[in-house]
Order: sequence, then structure tokens, then C-alpha cells
Amino acid sequence: MNQTLSNKQLVSIANEFGTPVYVYHAEKITEQYHKLTNGFAKANARFFYACKSLTNINVLKHVKSLGASLDCVSIHEVMLGLKAGFEPQEILYTPNCVDFAEIEAAKNLGVNINIDNISILEQFGTKFGSSYPVLIRLNPHIMAGGNFKISTGHIDSKFGISIHQVRHIERIVKSTGIKVFGLHMHTGSEIKDVNVFLQGLEVMFEMARHFMDTLEVIDLGSGFKVPYNDTDIETDVASLGDKVAAAFAEFEKETGKSLQVWFEPGKYLVSECGYFVVKANVIKTTTATTFVGVNSGFNHLIRPMFYDSYHFIKNISNPKGSERIYTVVGNICETDTFAWDRTLNEVREGDYLTFFNAGAYGFEMSSNFNSRLKPAEVLVKDDAPKLIRKRDEFDDLLRNQVID
Ligand SMILES: *Cc1c(COP(=O)(O)O)cnc(C)c1O
Repeated sequence: MNQTLSNKQLVSIANEFGTPVYVYHAEKITEQYHKLTNGFAKANARFFYACKSLTNINVLKHVKSLGASLDCVSIHEVMLGLKAGFEPQEILYTPNCVDFAEIEAAKNLGVNINIDNISILEQFGTKFGSSYPVLIRLNPHIMAGGNFKISTGHIDSKFGISIHQVRHIERIVKSTGIKVFGLHMHTGSEIKDVNVFLQGLEVMFEMARHFMDTLEVIDLGSGFKVPYNDTDIETDVASLGDKVAAAFAEFEKETGKSLQVWFEPGKYLVSECGYFVVKANVIKTTTATTFVGVNSGFNHLIRPMFYDSYHFIKNISNPKGSERIYTVVGNICETDTFAWDRTLNEVREGDYLTFFNAGAYGFEMSSNFNSRLKPAEVLVKDDAPKLIRKRDEFDDLLRNQVID
């Protein structure tokens, strides 16, 4: 696996800051961002970091320093983005099923708003008319895996407004005067085949023809994939960039309209920058397997249990130990298996194990389940580790509890 922080660096961070600890490598985020901007050099593209994957404000500031914009799914993410120094026009707010008051709060902050249902579109248009142009999130009814299908069977996704409702959208535009400056789609995570984006883009170009007077942007969301193991692939952004640039140029030739393309990568930017370092508490051999019980659980990294995700694991404190097969589990009173039958260099009690690809949806999805404390976060920049979030303390568990 691609490892940009050495075992030695990670062990030293674990010794200094304790475990469990999330460690992020700033230069890896930079590298990923540059792969995107280079890949899309021929396109008129803008990248909005989908910050729900990792919201630590120090990471947001680093992403801002690279020149990226920000994609937010809640008003509090918007507020974090503003606090990190993003300008309102650099922020895109793409909520789902939030109430009108939250949309209005975002409007008052001046950020780009992406509306994903007819009800809010109607209310927003009625209240603000043409004064505040918006984007609309469409559901293009695209099946993952390269099959392009418009089918009533997929009309129940809770995200976006169905492309079959374009007439309804047009009616609202006409009667309220609301201006649609962007059309958005986000079909999901980990799209392996770049053609899925291109098929989505074809649908978006069709939809664009309904909003030609006001349209400036097509937002293709995310779905950029990164490798989680040695045989896994990464989205070929260079090839996608060229194809997207060509498709937009063709659209411009046909219609005379030059549009900008927006993307919202989360995982692509921050997954591989992250290492989650834990300590082996107990080695337990049963009749069936050898367990390594670590000082963490799904309260800190839930992806293996929630999505059946694979995270590469390495014993960084005994990297030359002879290889043995282990089942890696957490210390939570719940079945929290990180990995079955994993080959690791011999694990001794006290060794540090590291989960790779822990930057995206790692710390962000953590909780205090079992009254355990959330881990610390450390950012390494110019080879210097810096604590960017203190480990929880016992008082944090009581912070909002009302005690008589
Ligand atoms: C989650 C999300 C993203 C980011 O997805 P990744 O797979 O992390 O790149 C982008 N856009 C929207 C609207 C999202 O909800």
C-alpha cells in the first residue's frame, strides 16, 4: 500500500500523543488535489472538497490553502468552512431533507445553495424570486457499474429531484422567477468506471437545455475512487479530465454555451492521507482463531462494520516479525471485527497496529459508544506532527448532561 508516513514517524507520534490516534499527512492531500487539477487542466473545472469526510478545521485550512472550494451538507459545516476562512462564494451547500429555516440561514450567509426537492424549491422561489440564483440537485437515475438506465424502479432515491420532474421544475421557475445557475448530480461513492460520469454528463446536458438562459455550471458530484488494497484501482482522473473537457467543448460547439464543471471529492482528497494508530491490548488464541484485541472499536472506525469495508492493517512496531494470521477486533461490548484472517507481522501485546485509508469517514463517524473517549487527531505537515484535536476526557462525556 502507498505509505507516505514512515513506520518510524507513526510510532513516534503514537508514543508522543498516545493511542488511539488519527494521523493525517498534509502533503498527501496536496498531492491528491494536484492530481485533480492537473487531470482537469483542459477543463474549466472547480473542486469543492466534500468536508463531511473529514472536518477538522486545520484540514479545512490546508485544503483552502491549496485553492480548493468547499462542499457542505449541513449548516454547521458551512459555519466551519467560514471559520476556516472560505469565502461564502467558495462554499457549496448541498443538504438533504433539511427544513426551510436552515436553507434560509445558508442564504443569509451568502453561500451557493443546491436545492434537492420540489417543496423547498417552490418555497425558496416564492420567497426570494430571482434575487438568489440556486443550483438544483437532480437524480439522473444512473445505475452504478456502467449501466445507464432511466427506470421508475430507481425513482425512490431520497436524493435529488428526478429528471422526470423537469417540467415541474420549469413551472416553478416560470411562476416564481427563481434562477437556476447550476445543475447537480451525485450518484454515489467509489465509481470505478469513468464512463459512469460521462453517461451522467449526457443526462445533465439534456437537462441543461431546459435552463439555457441562466445556466453557468454543471456539477458532477463525486464518486472518485481510491485504492483500499494492493489490487484495487484509483479513478483515472487524467482520462476522465480529458473526456469531460472534450464533452464540454462539444456542448459549447453545439449550443454556443460555455459551462463550468464542478466536482465534490471527499474520499479522493483525504482517504489516503489518514492513518489510524491503535495499540494491541490482548492477544487471545481460541480454538478457532487468534484474536488481536485493540484499544479501539467501531466507536472510532465504523467503516468495516457499517459498510463491510476493507482497511489495510499493518503492525508498525514489529514490521519484521514473522507473518501470522489474526482476526483484529475492538474492545467494544458489541461484535466489532475490523478484519478476519489478516496476515500481520507477529503481533505482541503493546504493538501498534495502523489502519490505512483512515482519513475519510474515520474520525467523522466516531462516537462515544460504551462511554469511551474519542481519539486525538494529529496533522503532519513539513514532517512536523501537530496535535489538531485533543483526545476526549472524562468530562466530555458529561458536558451536556444535566446533573441535579
Ligand atoms: C458525500 C458527498 C460527496 C463526497 O463523496 P466521496 O465519495 O467522499 O468523494 C460529494 N457530494 C455530495 C453531495 C455528498 O453527499
